[in-house]
Amino acid sequence: MTTDAPLLARMKADIDAGIALCRDTCEYFSVCGGGEPVNKLFENGSFATAETTYCRMTKMRVTDLVLDRLEQMPDIIESREATLPSGSASPVGKTVGHELVAEEGIHFGERE
Ligand code: SF4
Repeated sequence: MTTDAPLLARMKADIDAGIALCRDTCEYFSVCGGGEPVNKLFENGSFATAETTYCRMTKMRVTDLVLDRLEQMPDIIESREATLPSGSASPVGKTVGHELVAEEGIHFGERE
């Protein structure tokens, strides 16, 4: 019986090298963790690589989009509140002036 241990060990070393390269070079590493080795192999020809089209489309752009939306949230909330008449209902309460007041029966803490 033959063993593929040397090949698998080399493959693991290349995958680890690719993850280390991602850690050292990519600002999205905390979100992604080093990507998908198969995409690195298919797109770049080696596991010991970093950026791929796959990661640009599924990690980087998505992260940018979510962060952009989070940065816009105060503006979005403010503009929605500005369009609601005072006292109108919202999913969590009603607006009184510029403040959102919880409706009765909505519990933000532990229920009794
Ligand atoms: S987004 Fe791409 S380059 Fe960045 S850590 Fe993930 S796989 Fe590596």
